[in-house]
Amino acid sequence: MTRFSAFAIARNALSFHKDWGPHWRNPEPKRQYDAVIVGAGGHGLATAYYLAKEHGLTNIAVLEKGWLGGGNTGRNTTIIRSNYLQDASNAIYELSRALYEGLSQELNYNVMFSPRGVMMLAQTEHEYRALQRTSHANRLNGVETRMITADEVKRICPILNTSPNARYPVLGALWQPRAGTARHDAVAWGYARGADARGVDIVQNCEVTGIDVENGQVTGLTTTRGHIRTRKVGVVVAGHTSQLMAMAGVRMPIESVALQALVSEPIKPVMPCVVMANTVHGYMSQSDKGELVIGGGADAYNNFNQRGSFTSLEHTVRALVETFPAISRLRMLRQWGGIVDMTGDRSPILSRTPVEGLYVNCGWGTGGFKAIPGSGFSFARLIARGEDDVCGPFSLDRFREGRMIDESVAAAVAH
Ligand SMILES: Cc1cc2nc3c(=O)[nH]c(=O)nc-3n(C[C@H](O)[C@H](O)[C@H](O)COP(=O)(O)OP(=O)(O)OC[C@H]3O[C@@H](n4cnc5c(N)ncnc54)[C@H](O)[C@@H]3O)c2cc1C
Repeated sequence: MTRFSAFAIARNALSFHKDWGPHWRNPEPKRQYDAVIVGAGGHGLATAYYLAKEHGLTNIAVLEKGWLGGGNTGRNTTIIRSNYLQDASNAIYELSRALYEGLSQELNYNVMFSPRGVMMLAQTEHEYRALQRTSHANRLNGVETRMITADEVKRICPILNTSPNARYPVLGALWQPRAGTARHDAVAWGYARGADARGVDIVQNCEVTGIDVENGQVTGLTTTRGHIRTRKVGVVVAGHTSQLMAMAGVRMPIESVALQALVSEPIKPVMPCVVMANTVHGYMSQSDKGELVIGGGADAYNNFNQRGSFTSLEHTVRALVETFPAISRLRMLRQWGGIVDMTGDRSPILSRTPVEGLYVNCGWGTGGFKAIPGSGFSFARLIARGEDDVCGPFSLDRFREGRMIDESVAAAVAH
């Protein structure tokens, strides 16, 4: 693997940076692997990386129907936080956030983690109390968050409309100072580099079209690049989970909907943190290039188009202009969508399945970018050793047992 260092950058400067090698191979798929991960998004790539690094499993492949990181991982608004309500969520999201702190060093690749702080506005009395409850729960779980006043909100982010005459005046906010953003593509690329360097085959343009099951055990995969034998498969395909799992006869409690985002033209720095306004439903941060990154809501109907409806877009822009009147005449540069995988309790699924050797990691819905390191780390443990200390509560059984991990408040806005 090409390693980055001050010396390597200086050496490559002498050849005008034309001699950097490729960061991962482009291998032909082998006919047999010890384990195969389907889906080269952040969660699939991180799983492969930790399988190789932590558990020494290197005869493995990640199969991707398009290009790596081209799904939701390369389409999100990059918010990282761990201020969820339930204990199980605090454990996995905080593990993730903590891993993000050292991820650039771990992967020798700059993922541009920026812990600039995330604020969730309280704009009704009810919302204030709900966020206060979350902050108490966070403190009990060792997650650093606190409530801040409307004056502090204004001091941290002056372009926010904190007028008491607003339709929904800002009453305060839940503040997580070490939450923030990272560069989404870099997270996928960093894990891909690390996995490839440990011998993992990342096979792009390779769609899985069938899952073979014999006597209740997974035995292989049919792909557009031939048949592959394996007795362990991890399905990590976000919005396409239901279709993939149906190939093995497993019905999933997942709905797929389009979620969209947009960015403005670049402007000088105006936003020092991430702001989420759940009541009016909008959130915004500023990228290092200067674009305002705006997250929209999910479509109100199930679909697989990667665009998002105009109605949702209009709703989002209206909410943002109300929250940040100063941006009302800013021009928007791009808009796009991704297909997110929603569960009823807005919590993920990391689980064994009724088919022996078949594992599933999905249901991250509108908020799984932040969870990539922790999800990959704990899902790899489940696949390699059957240990489910972190992902145990997120098993499929919970839907049969009615043991929901309700995060509809923490996920009230798509992020
Ligand atoms: C607009 C938007 C904004 C978001 N904002 C945030 C945010 O601010 N913070 C946050 O934490 N999360 C956010 N999210 C959610 C986050 O992006 C996702 O939860 C996360 O990226 C999911 O990663 P993944 O690896 O599971 O899926 P993906 O990145 O979607 O990867 C799945 C891969 O599987 C592949 N695949 C599908 N079917 C097959 C097949 N048959 N064979 C082979 N490969 C297949 C796909 O091509 C895809 O590359 C947002 C999502 C969107 C769409």
